[in-house]
Amino acid sequence: MHSYSYLDRKKIVYIVCGLVIFALIRILLISRENSFLNSIFIAAIAISLLYFAIYVTSVYGNNVKTSRSNERKSANSNKMKPFISYHEEATALSNERSVIEKMNDQLKHDGSKKALLIFELDRFFLFKSSLGSMYTKRILDLMAERLLQNFPLSQIGKVEEDQFLILLENGIEKEELIDLCKQLTQSMEKPFCIEHLTLHTSVNIGIAYYPDNAQTADGLLKSAQLAMYEARNGPEQWTFYDQELSSVRKQMLLLENDLHQAIQNNEFILQYQPQLKLKTKHGIAMEALIRWEHPEKGLIPPSDFIPIAEDCGLIVPIGKWVLETACRQTKELQESLGHPVTVAVNLSLGQLYHENFVEVVSAVLEETKLPPECLQLEITETMTMDKNLLVPILNDLRALGITIALDDFGKGYSSLSYLKDLPIDCLKIDRAFVKNMSEKGHEPLVDFIISMAKHLKLNVVAEGIETMEQFNYFVNSECDAVQGYLISKPCSYEAIVKNCCSVKKYEFCCETQSDYYCLIKQIFN
Ligand code: C2E
Ligand code: MG
Ligand code: MG
Repeated sequence: MHSYSYLDRKKIVYIVCGLVIFALIRILLISRENSFLNSIFIAAIAISLLYFAIYVTSVYGNNVKTSRSNERKSANSNKMKPFISYHEEATALSNERSVIEKMNDQLKHDGSKKALLIFELDRFFLFKSSLGSMYTKRILDLMAERLLQNFPLSQIGKVEEDQFLILLENGIEKEELIDLCKQLTQSMEKPFCIEHLTLHTSVNIGIAYYPDNAQTADGLLKSAQLAMYEARNGPEQWTFYDQELSSVRKQMLLLENDLHQAIQNNEFILQYQPQLKLKTKHGIAMEALIRWEHPEKGLIPPSDFIPIAEDCGLIVPIGKWVLETACRQTKELQESLGHPVTVAVNLSLGQLYHENFVEVVSAVLEETKLPPECLQLEITETMTMDKNLLVPILNDLRALGITIALDDFGKGYSSLSYLKDLPIDCLKIDRAFVKNMSEKGHEPLVDFIISMAKHLKLNVVAEGIETMEQFNYFVNSECDAVQGYLISKPCSYEAIVKNCCSVKKYEFCCETQSDYYCLIKQIFN
């Protein structure tokens, strides 16, 4: 529309100018006083008019150019709109919206049996938090490329940040699908070489059938996703959807939803369980254990929500909250008691490998003013798989002045030889060993663990002490501390502060081991 009016106006200006010049020349020719001055005067008017015409057209020209380029831009953005809103940015595969629309169309027009296969990069959030999103975007690009080598674009799509899906109409018998899963895992498990790193990954696959498992595209996607989440913990890398799995997983998904709000709503609390020192008679050592005070479901133990938080990446903010709260409350306790108090904080894999974890710990110590030697971080055997990644982080943490404990030792039954290469300070013997000590063969095993730890100059803490028999065994061993229900169950911070107020100052300096034992029992009650 703009370009038409531009052309019309340009023509009109030229025609008017031409007519005026023509009229002036005519006047000049028929003028009786055809003097030289007259000619110059009329020529000047003609030049001015021509100049005016050029000026007017150029102004219109510029306006029109701008409006034309705007038109082009808006035309382009209109053209882009469907692409962007229907395609995932990083991989150019169909995105969730497009997938759902396309599938719904297909299901409406053709009711034949189909299978939806969905897969994700295993431990995606761990990769993202440890290596950064540049690497994960590149991995996802390469995964999309590998997928496109085997399936037509029309059959595949991308949902969430890291999930790919394939809609299959043929070859959907269970055996054929299992073969396909095997091929897919093989293809995705070939290492990805990005920059100077070679990354070994695996995938979790979920499969759901239309119309058996769901009758809508949305339902089919959710069922396949539920199966995929189940595959994370299952023996195989793929799982077929079934009804039973749905109800358990649904609860977990609901919990995951609530978990997102839990930090803002202040729903987490820390409880503290004492570690009774066996070689000294003073000082308090305790372990911080998180609990979730859910508004409807009540107190939820960490085993029910920490794995969910680890899967969805929420473990990083939750872990930071734990660290800050534990350090702050321990510092407050130290100040009110005037006695040393140390605290052990549990870590998750995703947290430890998060890009700036060491800085986070350092900032928390600075902010809360807790002396670094009063903080111990607990890692587990599963975090020690990749020593090349782990050792530098542990060295940096220890350089801050904090200590590291290896928690639940013995649970993973991994090689003992790796222990000597780990920069750690303490070994916590898993409760399962303590529990089974009365069984034949277990006591020598515990003896062996303690002597090996001592050989490596590590402190030893025994977990899960429930009976006097177990307690007496460790009192007479080289073990440095014991922790368990016999001494105290985990206590709320408020209860500890209240109990400390009722303990007289002089009672903190104990003469005998049994006085010290009574004091700890009194505080953590
Ligand atoms: P953990 O670090 O090995 O903590 C010891 C667990 O054993 C605690 O369970 C404690 O209540 C329990 N326990 C202690 N003494 C006894 C006993 O004598 N008998 C029995 N049966 N149990 C005992 P809780 O608090 O449920 O924690 C379970 C696990 O959850 C912890 O095991 C730890 O791995 C994880 N966890 C707890 N808090 C956090 C946290 O803040 N962050 C992370 N990442 N994990 C946490
Ligand atoms: Mg622990
Ligand atoms: Mg433990």
